[in-house]
Amino acid sequence: MKNIMEELKNAGSVAISGHIRPDGDCIGSCMGLYLYLKKVLPKAEIDVYLEKPSDIFQCIKDVEQIKDASVLGEDIKAYDVFVALDCSKDRLGAAQPLFEAAKKTINIDHHISNLGCGKVNHIVPDASSTSELIYDLIDKAELDEEIAKALYIGIIHDTGVFQYSNTSPSTLMAAAELIRFGFDFPKLIEETFYEKSYIQNQVLGRALLESILFMNKTCIVSTIDKKVMDFYGVTSSDFDGIVNQLRYTKGVECAIFLYENEFQSYKVSMRSGGKIDVAKVAQYFGGGGHVRAAGCTINGTQHDVINNLSLQIEKQMENK
Ligand code: AMP
Ligand code: MN
Ligand code: MN
Repeated sequence: MKNIMEELKNAGSVAISGHIRPDGDCIGSCMGLYLYLKKVLPKAEIDVYLEKPSDIFQCIKDVEQIKDASVLGEDIKAYDVFVALDCSKDRLGAAQPLFEAAKKTINIDHHISNLGCGKVNHIVPDASSTSELIYDLIDKAELDEEIAKALYIGIIHDTGVFQYSNTSPSTLMAAAELIRFGFDFPKLIEETFYEKSYIQNQVLGRALLESILFMNKTCIVSTIDKKVMDFYGVTSSDFDGIVNQLRYTKGVECAIFLYENEFQSYKVSMRSGGKIDVAKVAQYFGGGGHVRAAGCTINGTQHDVINNLSLQIEKQMENK
């Protein structure tokens, strides 16, 4: 795909959505595309469906326009086009019925584990973020400060502020063009990426304190169970950054962070220094992601989950 408008030019109605538990890239790409389409297709009905974004994303224009697909019930409208961003259809959550009902589907993503679920697919595993892909696809003459801000937030979140290996010269060129609009980017970086609430920092501290090294100190794991989540009054969105911090332990090649989603069901986040392909490990358990950052959900006791994951990691280590 060279230009998103080739696919959307005759659309009277467009729905945009991304994955459950939306992160910065998911929200940034959805809102960037939403603001852009509102501008270039003024007569069309454009809707964006996502789970409620964390308050840190209030700085994105029109974020309050985001619709909740979980309240639709049987009321599933057949949009002319449905655009699934930053995921495959199985992670759309409550918006998946809208995807199934749409007359045309477009899937834009950068997850290596996504084979493309749309009628039209634009999957670029080398891209830093879906937000960078949206930047590439839109007409630069129509960019404005608000669209730029949304896409910039997406890019900084998925690159860890241009720090991860997914950052390329074209990522930095895109970011350079985006900051030309003059928004206060250091403030955006601080307030959406680095700043944590006191409780979030306490939970981070606790996860680091209780972490365990294994496999000859090349792997590290930490878990937050339901009891601890209830004690601090935290939810999954409060855990951003924990698994990265675990990975920054000297000598650690692979970091795992688990939290108890439901009784004996754990959401797993993994980060690798590059030697272990954590997307492969996550895919084995029905999840996905990237070589250095991936996730999945595994049922069982905390012990089982860690044992099952270590087995897959060990297999890869042995093959090296
Ligand atoms: P996380 O550890 O949740 O930050 O996720 C790391 C990366 O893996 C992100 O790019 C996620 O979108 C992706 N990811 C996490 N969980 C899953 C899953 N169940 N299926 C596919 N991709 C996932
Ligand atoms: Mn994402
Ligand atoms: Mn992404």
